[in-house]
Amino acid sequence: MVRLTPPTEAVHLGRPKDGTRLVNPATEAGSTVLFPDYASFRARVRPFFYGRAGTPTHRALEASLCALENAEAARLTSCGLSACTLVLQAFAERGGHLLVADNVYDPTRYFCVHELSRLGVEVTFFDPLDMSALARAIRPTTRLIFCETPGSLTFELTDLPALIAVAGAIPVAVDNTWGAGVALRPLDLGAAISVQALTKYVAGHSDCLMGAVMMRGAGVIRQIAQTARSIGHSVSAADVALVHRGLRTLHTRYAQQGETGLRLAAFLAAQPEVAAVIHPARTDHPQHAIWLRDFGAVAGLFAFRTRWTDEAMSARFIDAMELFGLGYSWGGFESLLLPTFPADCRSAVPFTPSGAMFRVSAGLESVDDLTDDLKRGFDAVRAG
Ligand SMILES: *Cc1c(COP(=O)(O)O)cnc(C)c1O
Repeated sequence: MVRLTPPTEAVHLGRPKDGTRLVNPATEAGSTVLFPDYASFRARVRPFFYGRAGTPTHRALEASLCALENAEAARLTSCGLSACTLVLQAFAERGGHLLVADNVYDPTRYFCVHELSRLGVEVTFFDPLDMSALARAIRPTTRLIFCETPGSLTFELTDLPALIAVAGAIPVAVDNTWGAGVALRPLDLGAAISVQALTKYVAGHSDCLMGAVMMRGAGVIRQIAQTARSIGHSVSAADVALVHRGLRTLHTRYAQQGETGLRLAAFLAAQPEVAAVIHPARTDHPQHAIWLRDFGAVAGLFAFRTRWTDEAMSARFIDAMELFGLGYSWGGFESLLLPTFPADCRSAVPFTPSGAMFRVSAGLESVDDLTDDLKRGFDAVRAG
């Protein structure tokens, strides 16, 4: 068997060459699987017995995601958030304790605060940069450590190998939506679980929502499979086909958008109105050394902070631009520029720098056109 690089593998995954099928996995949608006879019905012969548990279409994407993240098993969920909550729920028990990084995706935090606490699960939010504080926060009842790197909105990089060493036998889960299996493979660093919002980079075309949990280790796989089965996660086969198509071009889009993002970051850093550009691949990022060590590529998603504090300036800036869209999500083909308010999403470590914060998702437009669009925004600010 030839050894393939990841981009080549992503193109060739799930392609049957037996002369009976098309180049992509078939889209098999539906509920009912017919059993040949009474005995096989009673034995619930697997792998396929009911649509909720997935069809060959779902298994093909899961196999491709295992290759992407070097996982032993993958589980699809309805969206990225449900992939995060599935993992948290699988390790939640009355009297149990979960450690969750302070910079996780805000709806993940919301689930911990509003749902898990109601069930008698204790959640402690920890400083993603302070591993000795994390070590002190571990209790005999700690069941899971959940983190995200870089952190949502603020892009701190956690020292994953150090965190995993501190965790010892406690499973570590990483929201790897930014790394996407292209720049980062948390399972290779020793994490038990990697979660992705496939909605973002893997689907890549802003036309569907989906999540996935990638895992290693029999105990973790069994635990998450049981919770997923009990809850009843189901994903449309048509959406699975869209995500699998996205995977074919993932590495190319990722590289291009990363390159565009770096050039936009350089342009922004040169503007007098910009106080700071927060981008893991820039040498002025506080944890740039971690990026150099652990990440093999750069996503086109980063943040910047302005010197202005007046929201009316932000409104002028945003409304003067024609190419950058104002909307949620990221990793799609189209550039987005989102005002963010990360101070509202923290409890362990206050986040209080002055100025307005924005998150840039670089798309596939020409970088010159995008730079011109940013100039339109800054011109409007300067005119005002
Ligand atoms: C968007 C996002 C999610 C949630 O994904 P959805 O598909 O929108 O539910 C989870 N984690 C991170 C880091 C995200 O950016």
